Amino acid sequence: MSLTERNEPGFSASGALFSSGRSPLDILKQVYGYSSFRGKQQQVVEHVVSGGDAVVLFPTGAGKSLCFQIPALCRDGVGIVVSPLIALMRDQVEAMKQLGIRAAALNSSLSREEFVEVRRALSAGQLDLLYVTPERILTDGFRELIANEKIALFAIDEAHCVSQWGHDFRPEYRELGRLGEQYPGVPRVALTATADPHTRDDMIERLGLDTAEIFTTSFDRPNIAYEIVERDQPRQQLLRFLSGHKGDSGIVYCLSRAKVEDTAEWLNGQGIRARAYHAGMDRAVRDANQDAFLKEENLCLVATVAFGMGIDKPNVRYVAHLDLPGSVEAYYQETGRAGRDGLPSEVWMAYGMADVIQRGRMIDEGNAAPEIKRVERAKLNALLAICETASCRRQAILAHFGEAHAGQCGNCDTCLKPVETWEGTEAAIKALAAVYRTGERFGAGHVVDVLLGNVNEKTERFGHAEMPVFGAGKDIPARVWQSVFRQLLAMGLIRVDHEAFGALKLEPEARAVFKHERQVFFRKDRPASERRTKKAERSERKSGLSGADGSLFEALRAERMAIAKSLGVPPYVVFPDTTLIAFATERPRSRKELLAISGVGQAKLERYGDAFLEIILAQDNG
Ligand code: ADP
Ligand code: ZN
Repeated sequence: MSLTERNEPGFSASGALFSSGRSPLDILKQVYGYSSFRGKQQQVVEHVVSGGDAVVLFPTGAGKSLCFQIPALCRDGVGIVVSPLIALMRDQVEAMKQLGIRAAALNSSLSREEFVEVRRALSAGQLDLLYVTPERILTDGFRELIANEKIALFAIDEAHCVSQWGHDFRPEYRELGRLGEQYPGVPRVALTATADPHTRDDMIERLGLDTAEIFTTSFDRPNIAYEIVERDQPRQQLLRFLSGHKGDSGIVYCLSRAKVEDTAEWLNGQGIRARAYHAGMDRAVRDANQDAFLKEENLCLVATVAFGMGIDKPNVRYVAHLDLPGSVEAYYQETGRAGRDGLPSEVWMAYGMADVIQRGRMIDEGNAAPEIKRVERAKLNALLAICETASCRRQAILAHFGEAHAGQCGNCDTCLKPVETWEGTEAAIKALAAVYRTGERFGAGHVVDVLLGNVNEKTERFGHAEMPVFGAGKDIPARVWQSVFRQLLAMGLIRVDHEAFGALKLEPEARAVFKHERQVFFRKDRPASERRTKKAERSERKSGLSGADGSLFEALRAERMAIAKSLGVPPYVVFPDTTLIAFATERPRSRKELLAISGVGQAKLERYGDAFLEIILAQDNG
């Protein structure tokens, strides 16, 4: 790894770029090219610069990185960043270097030579930031390496990985709680986008940050549009969703490795560039696919949940789920990978009863303690309730994390096209009676057959055709009955007994319905075709640029890709889309005007300013 050359513009001969004389705001403007801090960034930065410990709980895209990078630049010494993913460290370090920040990574992928170079730069006081893996930071070797160095701070990225309650638990994180004792007086900053209060509390305790200042903001992601549909013909449904995203990059999540591979292959056959990613793949292929996703435009990555944490790609325009995630928290994190740059993005999920059965079975067959299994089942039910809600999805998601939202967000499927409901008390009673009369021994498929009066081997064998409930639900189509059972589950009136092979059982609350003490309303599922029109309209508006601005944007994008390719870095490391859009619409005509654009700092102006300026001027003059 070669460190940033020290004689580039902006660097003094000694290599000391950031004398402690510069204020955080100066650094924000000169290095990052941003005009002002966002949200609570400034409060965090000031707190850490003055030596305080901080816990930063901001959603994805809120700008957590600056919260440790700027303090590291303001304080004396090197900032040490704990980051869980070796495969992404290189890009993170490269992004720093592009800004003129002296960064390096220390991990097992370094050659001996590279390691020696990092060590040399470190002891020469020429590093602003050093990225390391959690397993390395507490080794004797690393302690010796930094024993004589001045340490500006420790930053623990993806800090929720320390908690077993979270969905990304990493045993290597457990020891990080000792950093405080080992390096007293060095400020620590833990950062995460986890929204789950339970995981947050556990994380703070395990990292020994009980006395740290906690900074938190709303976890709403207003630029993300939510849509959840009943699974019908999932591949066709997915194609329709993707048809609104031509030229975009996005992620399609599947539950199993086999489904990941099949889906990626099928998408390629449909003319959509897709690659696969799951933990069972050959490592080299998997890393190459991840790299392609980061570096190319217009690529669909089909993946299991093994993919995504720490992915900085800001212009992921969509996330699709072909299977139900395990919890609201997992759903929020996975969908949260869309739209980090703040531009409009869409997330979509297709799910059905089979998911509920499958997820439940995974919980029951896992080897977690009974108490954990109980929590996991409750988490799954909470997600089911969000899938079946007839009101604003955003409100329901945020409510799950204890955050109030007025609803009517105008950017989720239920708000854009309000769901009709129907008074279904009689239907609910029939459904519950069918479960009860057949002995609470059968899954939804068979119970629906009984309601519809479908004669088959099973109804014959168990004598169900003789029962009064047999055929009692003929007036309602099978699809609607399926939906009724999902909603009864979401309402907690029935449950799935996985030990009894997915048999439906009545919950005590069902009694009130039988006795007509509780009225039941169901959401009316819409036909898939109806739902698409709305979606298509929304996607049209997405890119925002048309005409001359649009073609200038494309030219700038091509230049960015050429630069990124020559450097072997992802395009967003050169400039994010937001900056290119500002170039195309504001049309800066000089270096000074370029510098006024958000995302253009001193180092990038020197490196790329002229190349982009030339393209802008050429179009303006032509
Ligand atoms: P997080 O780590 O919280 O997901 P990032 O640190 O990756 O978010 O920031 C998301 C995007 O917002 C990045 O492109 C980043 O450069 C940009 N950003 C962060 N802070 C600001 C700011 N104050 N002004 C403008 N853009 C910002
Ligand atoms: Zn809404």
